[in-house]
This record gives sequence, C-alpha cells and structure tokens, in this order.
Amino acid sequence: MLKLQRNYYCEFIIAKDEQLKEITEIITVKYPTTLNLSTSIGSYNTPNSANLQFINLSKEIQGKIWKDVFIDNASKHIGFNLWAGYGNSLANVFSGYIDECTSYKQAGSTDWVTEIKAYPQGANIYFNGLSNATYIQGTQRSDIIQDLISSKDIKLGCLSLSLNKPITKNQTLIGQPMDLLGKNFADYRIFIEKKELHILADSEVIENETLIISDETGLLGSPRRANQFLEIDMIFEPQASLGRMITLKSNTMPQFNGDYIAMSIKHYGTISPTKSGTLITSMVLAKPNDKIQEVPRVEEKTYTGETTTSGWQKPVKGVVTSPFGKRTDPITGKTQTSHEGIDIGANLNTPVVAAAAGIVTMTKYYGGYGMCVQMDNGTSNGKKITTLYGHLSSWNVQNGAMVLKGQTIGYVGSTGKSTGPHLHFEVRENGVPVDPKKYIGTF
Ligand SMILES: [Zn+2]
Repeated sequence: MLKLQRNYYCEFIIAKDEQLKEITEIITVKYPTTLNLSTSIGSYNTPNSANLQFINLSKEIQGKIWKDVFIDNASKHIGFNLWAGYGNSLANVFSGYIDECTSYKQAGSTDWVTEIKAYPQGANIYFNGLSNATYIQGTQRSDIIQDLISSKDIKLGCLSLSLNKPITKNQTLIGQPMDLLGKNFADYRIFIEKKELHILADSEVIENETLIISDETGLLGSPRRANQFLEIDMIFEPQASLGRMITLKSNTMPQFNGDYIAMSIKHYGTISPTKSGTLITSMVLAKPNDKIQEVPRVEEKTYTGETTTSGWQKPVKGVVTSPFGKRTDPITGKTQTSHEGIDIGANLNTPVVAAAAGIVTMTKYYGGYGMCVQMDNGTSNGKKITTLYGHLSSWNVQNGAMVLKGQTIGYVGSTGKSTGPHLHFEVRENGVPVDPKKYIGTF
C-alpha cells in the first residue's frame, strides 16, 4: 500500500545568525535513518513544538548538530526543515529552529539516539519577540500587525479583510503586540505557519486545494466530538496545514460529514526501514457557523487598507532642503516651478523606509525621479493615497510586494535630476500631489 511507503528528508542549516543568512553548513539526513517524530502546530496560545529522535546518525553529524541549552550557543543557530510523505511526494511538515540537541546511548542498547527539541519559525514572536507597545484610540489593527512582524523574518499570509478596523474610542491597549492581538481580537484565529502570519475570522480559510478525509483516505476510528470541535486521527497526512478547509466524508459515520477548518495539527510516530511503527496525524477541526469563505494571500491583492493623516513615519532622517510647492528650479534656475514633493537631504545610502503600509506599484528608473519606488497606500477619507520615493541609489522591494510602515524599501541616492544625495518624497491624493507635511509632519 502506497500510504505505507513513508519517506522523509530533512535539512539542518547551521548559521551564525538568527535569520540564517550567514550559513556555515547545510547537512541533510534522509530515509532510511529511523526517525521518531512528534510535531505540534496550533493557533495562538497553543504550544508549538517538534520533538525528534534520529537513530544512529553518524558521529560526524551528531557533532555538527549538537546544541545544548546550557552552553553559550549565541553564535550557533540551527535551522531545521522536515519534508515527509510517501514515495517521492514529500511535503514540508515542519520548519523551525533547534532549541536543544543531545545524543546518547541508553543502557543495554546499541543504538545512538539523537534527540532534538525544535520550535517553529515565528514562534519567538509568541514567546520572547517584542517589547511592550501602547496603542491608542484610532490605531489600526494593521498597525499592531506591522509591529508584530516588522522586526522578524515573517511574511504576511492571509489576513481577514474585516481586520483593518481601528481600535474603538476610549480604548488604550498596552502590552506585547501578539498578546494584544490574541486577547483583544479573540474572534480571530492567529497563527504562524511556514514563516507566514495568518489572521482569519471565524469562518475564513486559506485558499488552497481542499483536503478530503474519508474512511478510504485514512480516517482512523470515530471522530471525538466536543462542542463545535471535532478531533480526528488519520493515517499520516503530510499535506495537512492550519487554516485550511477539510472535507470529511464517511460512509460509516455520516453524522460527521461536512466542511471543517483545521485548527491544530499533530504528527507523531515513526518512519523507519526496520520498525513497523505507526505514523498518525491528529487534527482538531472546527465547524464554522457561517458558510466557509476563502481569503487570498496578502501578496495577491491590491492594498485595501485605510490610512489616516496621522500615524505615518518620516521616510528618512534628514533635513528638508526644498519644500513642497512653488520654488526656483535647482537645475535651471528658473522660478515658479511647482515642486510636487519635498526633498530631504541625507547621506548617500541612508535607509529609506515606507512612511505608511502599502503595496509597491512601481520600481524603476523613472526619468527625472531616477531610481524610484511608488506605493499604493490605500484610502484616506475616500481618496486614493499613493507615495513616491525618488533619486534612490537602489531599492530592495519588488513590484507587488506588501510593505509595512517602517520597512526599508531602498537607500538615499542622487539618481535622475539631482544635485546631491537626497530623497524626493511625494504624497498624492487621487493622483494630485499634496504637501507631505500633512502626513509626515514638519521636520
Ligand atoms: Zn524633489
């Protein structure tokens, strides 16, 4: 039976930094080394972890991935990816960081066991990622999300469209952003999977192929039912992921048939050429009250967020060398040229950050603007707001990317019609340039 031809492949990325960019070595371990695994991924407040045991890894690999919490491992970070499945069809079932790795031989055994405790990518946001912040009346929920992910290597996944509502009047939130989201927006499902943050309303699911579980495809025993939740066990299902729609079809238990949302996933058991051990996927499914709705990924849609004239950030530290409006043309010396933005003088290659969240709509060499990034920042008082950043030395965002307030989008340069390093910054309302002072204040 194909479902018993289990296979896995894993990768240890040894690096000097937490973001795994300064890589020292990548080590792969694959079947037929015996792997005992136990992984658990859930929503906010559910512990996420992976406990793994490799049997008889080579001494060389044991030494390389060895990591002990009691030793200062500050300069050794180990990333971990596990793909598992059947035959050659392997799905990513866990990506994270190694917290602890020890190797030992039990009394009376000839087997070396290499035991690993890992936490998933993004988990540090839950546990120790961010300092407290204060949010006042009018703060957009998206602002909290920005704070949440701006300092971490996490991308936005699917965000509920109903999320972008301001914090209501007379309310001030103080605390760790993830906690605030979890506690104050308890009507949402908040989770990080595969380096993507998803925040979904009750009946929303991540757009994806629907997973159908039936007696034939691997449902084991009867589902356990509590309130609107259903807990099911099935033969190992590597395609399972959080926030997806699961359709249950059973001939013997038709009372459970229907569409559910995957709320948590556990894989546990053994993949081994010599031991016949079981490998089970256990999931908690929720039955939504409303019809299930699919929510697209953030990158795939235009920015629909609201923006306000407050809460923007200055795009670069510097001094305004030329204000908005009529002025003398700095190149031709002619008067009465309308300056459609402001010029902020700063040193060459000073980082330029997005003044507000949005979607990048243009990155190109744009005539007199030189190297230029343009963004769609949503609407304010019914007007479409766009921003433009000119004369850059380079940009580091791609067209179509979702950008957060404060995220570096490029660097100060002097490209195009320019007499020295500065940022030309423009804000347009329905395409009409307005004084950026209205949004980013005076310098
Ligand atoms: Zn200018």
